[in-house]
Amino acid sequence: MPKTDIKSMTLDELARETASSGLPSFRAGQIFDWLQVRGATDFEEMTNLPKSLRAELAQRYELRSCTVVRRLESKDDTVKYLFRLIDGECVESVLMHYKYGYTLCVSSQVGCKMGCAFCASTLGGFVRSLTASEILSQIHAAQRDRGVRVSHVVLMGMGEPLDNFDNVMRFLDLVGDAKGLNLSMRNISLSTCGLVPRIYDLMERDYPLTLSISIHAPNDEIRSRIMPVNRSYPIEELLRACRVYAERTKRRISFEYTMIHGVNDSDACARELAGRLRGMLAHVNLIPANEFRESPYARSGADRVERFAEILRKCGVNATVRRSLGSDIDASCGQLRLHNQKEVDRT
Ligand code: SAH
Repeated sequence: MPKTDIKSMTLDELARETASSGLPSFRAGQIFDWLQVRGATDFEEMTNLPKSLRAELAQRYELRSCTVVRRLESKDDTVKYLFRLIDGECVESVLMHYKYGYTLCVSSQVGCKMGCAFCASTLGGFVRSLTASEILSQIHAAQRDRGVRVSHVVLMGMGEPLDNFDNVMRFLDLVGDAKGLNLSMRNISLSTCGLVPRIYDLMERDYPLTLSISIHAPNDEIRSRIMPVNRSYPIEELLRACRVYAERTKRRISFEYTMIHGVNDSDACARELAGRLRGMLAHVNLIPANEFRESPYARSGADRVERFAEILRKCGVNATVRRSLGSDIDASCGQLRLHNQKEVDRT
């Protein structure tokens, strides 16, 4: 029998288990605190539990955590981690230091199935989805490693979070739990390449998080070329879902637009994008594409990016250019795992 993943359990679920084992009710709270707040990596750390109970827990449950395989530190205080999971698979996280605190960019899957042409996460191949506990463990591991508190989380690492819907929703419930890490949903962003039915499902949850859409192109012709998901859910279907989402949740949607030289960065692209987004509660984040060895794409020049932003603004669409952190350390996700795999392959 596989052991139950205890760190993915809610406090209610834990309380039911401890009650059925005849334990006093305060034990569930103690265990939940060790798992969720302190990020214990071993039952033996739980020193306010009797030794016999720690042993019993270790017998019945598995405790998933992340260990640091590699740590790259940027000059700008960005730290990129390659974490190893329980089965030896690796994922990446990036810790960023802003004026308002620490933001961790977490992965939701090992690799990705979505196949975006410019993205390193896809190149490494899809292996599996992460459990809620494994997404949480990235926060715990980064906090422990740096001795800091992470106040903001972005689901913008490897993987497509809405392709791992149930585990990601469980992660959100756990990370927002007042007795857990107690993060405000307002400090969480979830990014999707546009799995339209799952956007409607997310809307039903009514979380006050920020939804980010990786739009990257103003029309089906370009978008289908660089993002295969667009062939299943074309841009107008996606934007309809976004409009409904924004109206229903009253939350501004953030659109990510990776600027790729000669592909999606013309003045005409900017005008077409503005035409589609006008009137929506939206914000566009322009990100010069990250270049990496295996990618055939080059980033747009700084002038081009500024001009694109100007056109959007003139057309009444909010737009900013993303400050790029950690570019000296391969900080955009997928690259470290990809390059680590290759190093392993070579040895
Ligand atoms: N699968 C989700 C979560 C990934 S978030 C999504 O697609 O939104 C990571 C963001 O970085 C996405 O917007 C993705 O499109 C973008 N991205 C991927 N490769 C990139 C690259 N080489 N340069 C710039 N942005 C990239």
